[in-house]
Amino acid sequence: MSEKGLSLLAKLFQNSGEGIMLFNKNGLIESMNPRAEDIFGYKEDELIGKPIEVLVPEKVRHSHKTDRNSYLENPKSRPMGLGLDLKGLRKDGDTFPIEISLNYLKHENEMMVVAFITDITVRKQNERMVKEQQQKLEEYANELEKKVRNRTSELEHMNLGLQSQIQERKLAEQALKKSLVDLKQAEQEILASLEREKELGILKSRFVSMASHEFRTPLTTILSSANLIQRYSESEHQNSREKHIGRIQKNVQHLTTILNDFLSLEKLESGAQKINKSVINIKILIDEIIEAINPTLKVGQRVESTVQPVDIMSDEYVLKNILINLISNASKYSSGEDVIELTTHRSNGLLSLSVKDHGIGIPVEEQKNLFERFFRAANVTNIQGTGLGLNIVKKYVELLNGTIDFKSAEGKGSTFTIHLPTHIAE
Ligand code: ADP
Repeated sequence: MSEKGLSLLAKLFQNSGEGIMLFNKNGLIESMNPRAEDIFGYKEDELIGKPIEVLVPEKVRHSHKTDRNSYLENPKSRPMGLGLDLKGLRKDGDTFPIEISLNYLKHENEMMVVAFITDITVRKQNERMVKEQQQKLEEYANELEKKVRNRTSELEHMNLGLQSQIQERKLAEQALKKSLVDLKQAEQEILASLEREKELGILKSRFVSMASHEFRTPLTTILSSANLIQRYSESEHQNSREKHIGRIQKNVQHLTTILNDFLSLEKLESGAQKINKSVINIKILIDEIIEAINPTLKVGQRVESTVQPVDIMSDEYVLKNILINLISNASKYSSGEDVIELTTHRSNGLLSLSVKDHGIGIPVEEQKNLFERFFRAANVTNIQGTGLGLNIVKKYVELLNGTIDFKSAEGKGSTFTIHLPTHIAE
């Protein structure tokens, strides 16, 4: 090497940023550059001839010696940063992390080892700091995640609470609505029962006036006839006796009819009136009724029937009562010479049966009240009656799933028509 080269090398040795040390095959330090002095805190003079282990922490000194010997037996270049965790020992006793690369050379036939040393305290510190910060960051992230989790579960909890509150409120609202409905219903029931009571009051007074009127006349007749019979003791009075006995019988019969009407009404209202279905031939039924009713008609009155022999499935007892009632009214509210006409008409599974008279008729303004209990029109005050018959008839017709209507003109007559299904539904 040229002299310049040698001088440059010497400068390089002196100024190198890495510590450079030379030691011989016995591990004794031969030379070191100023950076190595800095690193270990010794002056070169203090170390020349000293074993390299002076710079090795005590607890690894022994193994270092062994490593060093095996290296010298088989020397080769060893680069820096082999991942070895090496420590150096400074003069002041401090240990510190270092990186070492080893090389060997021969000088004057003697093997020499060159160690390049880097103090990596700062790097290690930085690494530690980075690690610590990373750890802190991780902890922070974990903490954050935990907080988010807690908050989420808190929110979920709150949400559940809110949901159950909403549910409770909804239930409360429903309960409130229901009690409002109940209240309304109760109010309506009270009103209805008040209405019923009022109606009942009206009915009672109507009943009292009807009963006092309707019962008094026959009872007076019965009493006077009975008194007279008592007086007709002679046998020649037999005719008069029989006449009064007849009167008594007729009036008792009338009272019985009224009482029967009450019973029918009571039975209908309580729902006790049941339906017994059977096949009825309408013509046969009407003929029977006419035969039974004939003796009660006014003198000169007659019933004419054009009723066809149709079979219907219905209740005979109920149907008979309806027709007797309508025919009796036709007779009662007509004069002696009038004809009562019975006709039938069939269409769409319905049988219509009409009872027509040519009697006094019903005033138009009163027709709307006709089926009310105890109702009697103003033009019948001189004729006996309770005002119950049509009310019963209407209820009977409804029991047979039928309807009733009428046409009437005052002074001309009335026609009452019932429309019945030919088969009563179950
Ligand atoms: P009642 O004959 O005992 O008075 P109803 O209930 O049978 O009772 O009749 C109620 C009222 O309807 C009668 O009072 C009468 O005013 C009127 N009415 C019923 N049928 C006839 C009819 N065929 N002609 C005229 N008015 C009638």
